[in-house]
Amino acid sequence: MQNSFEDIIEKLDNHELWDFPGGVFPAERKTLSNQTPIVRAAIPKHLYVTVKQHIGVEGQIIVDVGQKVLKGQALTKSMNPFAVPIHAPTSGEITAIHKHVSAHPSGLPELTIEISSDQEDKWTKLYPLIDYQNQPKIQVLTAICDAGISGMGGAGFPTHIKSSPKKDVDFLIINGIECEPYITSDDRLMREHAWQIRQGIDVLYHLLQPKHVLIAIENNKPEAIEALQVACRENANYRVCIVPTKYPAGGEKQLIQVLTNREVPAQGLPVDVGVIMHNVGTCFAIADAVFSGKPLIERVVTVTGESIENPGNMWTLIGSPVAHLLTHYEYKQTGQKRPNIIMGGPMMGFSVTSDLVPVVKTTNCILVPTDNEIADNNEQSCIRCSACADVCPASLLPQQLFWHSKAKELDKAQEYNLFDCIECGACAYVCPSEIPLVHYYRIAKSEIRLEQEDKQKSDKARVRFEKREARLIAEQQIRDEKHRLAAEARRHAMKSNGNTAKDKIAAAIARAKAKKQSTNIVDEKPIELAEVPLANKSEQDAEADASTKVSSSNQRVQAAIARAKAKKAAAEVIIAPIGMKVDLDADDLTENKCKTKQQNNVVLNSSPAAKVNSTESNIAVEPTETEEQQIDMKKHRIAAAVAKAKAKKIAKIEATIKENKPS
Ligand code: SF4
Ligand code: SF4
Repeated sequence: MQNSFEDIIEKLDNHELWDFPGGVFPAERKTLSNQTPIVRAAIPKHLYVTVKQHIGVEGQIIVDVGQKVLKGQALTKSMNPFAVPIHAPTSGEITAIHKHVSAHPSGLPELTIEISSDQEDKWTKLYPLIDYQNQPKIQVLTAICDAGISGMGGAGFPTHIKSSPKKDVDFLIINGIECEPYITSDDRLMREHAWQIRQGIDVLYHLLQPKHVLIAIENNKPEAIEALQVACRENANYRVCIVPTKYPAGGEKQLIQVLTNREVPAQGLPVDVGVIMHNVGTCFAIADAVFSGKPLIERVVTVTGESIENPGNMWTLIGSPVAHLLTHYEYKQTGQKRPNIIMGGPMMGFSVTSDLVPVVKTTNCILVPTDNEIADNNEQSCIRCSACADVCPASLLPQQLFWHSKAKELDKAQEYNLFDCIECGACAYVCPSEIPLVHYYRIAKSEIRLEQEDKQKSDKARVRFEKREARLIAEQQIRDEKHRLAAEARRHAMKSNGNTAKDKIAAAIARAKAKKQSTNIVDEKPIELAEVPLANKSEQDAEADASTKVSSSNQRVQAAIARAKAKKAAAEVIIAPIGMKVDLDADDLTENKCKTKQQNNVVLNSSPAAKVNSTESNIAVEPTETEEQQIDMKKHRIAAAVAKAKAKKIAKIEATIKENKPS
């Protein structure tokens, strides 16, 4: 259970603090560099601004090679909240955008913007936010982000993210500890710029609204303590806490434990225990950004070590190569068999692979020791003395971490909480076998991170593949379903058509049957009547029946004759002799016959040469007369005579029928 806010304040009022486990007391060697004010050196001819200098994602480069830039001009930008821009440290021209040796233990090249300075150091237009208290907090956070500010005391976490937590904050801790030997940049900054640091604290106080502000300074920096006490005395919520000198008291988790006795959980954040921590250098940069509109383009760097003629602190432009600083402070290589330049302090720093390594936002020290000052590695076998475990401030087992890291047993190294190691170097400092333990831990961490990145990439690729497979299967299923429905619809349609055809056939059969039936009724009805037995009828009825029977018989004969006439008349073709006037007697032919003759005449003599005159039943034709036509005319006359004879014969038959008809 963590200490309450009131308990902590009560203890602080009594000038009491807590402690953290382990820790070492190395020689401080701070007086080498903290005796003189911070200086400002000449502007380097070439600056190498690394694109990514913080934890998070890098921004997109918004300048081109050959472009002129002004001091403070943004070189990158991004909409990603975890991206922090970089800016031109001075005015000049972009001469290259390429990979350049990095400020990292590996020295691996990183994307860098190279600027050739014009030595005019001309500023771009700046936009300060003086009345920040009357501005929305998001405006202030945006100003901090746009100024490219990330943590200047450690890992380089984006300041605007750290300054907008989602939990309540009990304590805002300002870290002025600077516990590592040799380094004095924060010490000199606090001594010389306490008021500006206070302004930065005011901005953070406005953003975070903590219950209390604790400004932690080690007791080996009396001038800095006094300067901050003076600067903060007007605000009762600001308290300068004097912390005993012990390495690594400046570690985030260790300092929180010392001031509040609250333990940040593994994989947790300080805000989980109600604390937010910022470095004094970060506070200075925040004040610059808000009150002057200046981006983070320079910082104080300690250049020290016995191989430096005049150690001290210098305002250094971000992107300045280490060689530029060494030139300014007169690097003497006489004390070194081979060049040994350390970026950072002797505990947590690393040897650079080139003097063209640029200063970045987290660079606080360039240490150039003699060979006597810091011995070269003379690694021996581990003797299992456990001295490393005794000093570990994170209560880890450095020996086991070493074994598993060296054997590439990365899973086991993680089981021993490798990532809780703050790389303080206390274990290596006490190791009698001079094993560079932190070096092994860093390599193991890098390999694990690479493995994790690869795993993330392969996981993403697998997810993409699975999504694609699922999509293809879904599309195939949709297609299959469409085909199935279409096939079903076709089958249905065929079935319906078949039924319709069958229905039509059935209907046709029914119609035919009905027709046949009706025909039978008409034809058979008289016969049925005739077949009725006479015995069942009266005499009159019988007579009537007989009469009806004869009559019916006659009618049928007459009808048959009429049909025969009509048929014959239809078959006959009477062609009027060409050039003659033919008179057709209505008595000789039936009306139908006459009509047929007329029609045929009209059809046969409708040649353009013919002139046809038709009045009532007479047809006048006046063609050109030839011998052949005369023969034809003769034939027609014979045919007409035959027809006339036939008609007379028919008339005789009709007369006979009439005579035989019963009265
Ligand atoms: S470097 Fe890691 S293992 Fe070694 S003492 Fe520091 S925290 Fe512990
Ligand atoms: S201090 Fe060095 S020698 Fe001793 S146990 Fe740790 S690693 Fe081994």
